[in-house]
Amino acid sequence: HMTQRRPLIAGNWKMNLTLDQGVSLVREVAGGIQGLEGVDILVCPPFTALIHIRGALENTPIHLGAQNMHWESSGAFTGEVSGNMLLEVGCSHVILGHSERRLLFGETDELIDRKVSSATDLGLTPILCVGETLEQRESGQTFEVLSDQLEGSLDHALRAGSLAPALIIAYEPVWAIGTGKTATPDQAQEAHSFIRQWIAGHFDEGRAESLRILYGGSVKPENIASLMSQDDIDGALVGGASLKADSFLGIIRNSKQ
Ligand code: PEP
Repeated sequence: HMTQRRPLIAGNWKMNLTLDQGVSLVREVAGGIQGLEGVDILVCPPFTALIHIRGALENTPIHLGAQNMHWESSGAFTGEVSGNMLLEVGCSHVILGHSERRLLFGETDELIDRKVSSATDLGLTPILCVGETLEQRESGQTFEVLSDQLEGSLDHALRAGSLAPALIIAYEPVWAIGTGKTATPDQAQEAHSFIRQWIAGHFDEGRAESLRILYGGSVKPENIASLMSQDDIDGALVGGASLKADSFLGIIRNSKQ
């Protein structure tokens, strides 16, 4: 690489774990990574656990993120949580546009764009998720879907003509999430390379080079190394395997080149 991109392993807990289970997990992970350098680690618990997990993360290098947010800072939005609130509990990152948000909760690129823009303005690092369904892949629409999602969810950035330096993209093929079916390293590399070229074309080469692109979809300790060996794969967004210290630590360790 021209630019050395620091690997990031991020755990998306989704709607899982009790407070006690979450604390035990991060304690074990923090213990297991002592002395390990050169990889960033992030955990994304449910909203209700954030403040509690932050306490358990003190004096560890593990970063804290949320799984979603609203774009307004406050107001009459029953059931929603703002980016300011996430900052207040110590979050540095927020996952936006996860396929479960898109498919189960009707999130559109337009809404995701507002969230990305708001997070960026607040200094939260967005992890913007994109990815095609099996049907879309099988009908040859993968690149079209990716470019539509990027164009729609980065609309503010495109109009401003600059992409926030911290922003991270996660390529998560929907057919590989929670299914045990991982994209092959070649399939993932092809999509990551497409995304990087898209960013180079719509912003600039420098930003494309520094962009961290995570792969997500059934990542395990057994498949992370071959994924990470690809030029354009800079880390992983991990669901199921982030819920146990053994498997999350295995992924972190095996992610090192
Ligand atoms: C995810 O939901 O971000 C994900 C990649 O899940 P899993 O690792 O369980 O496939």
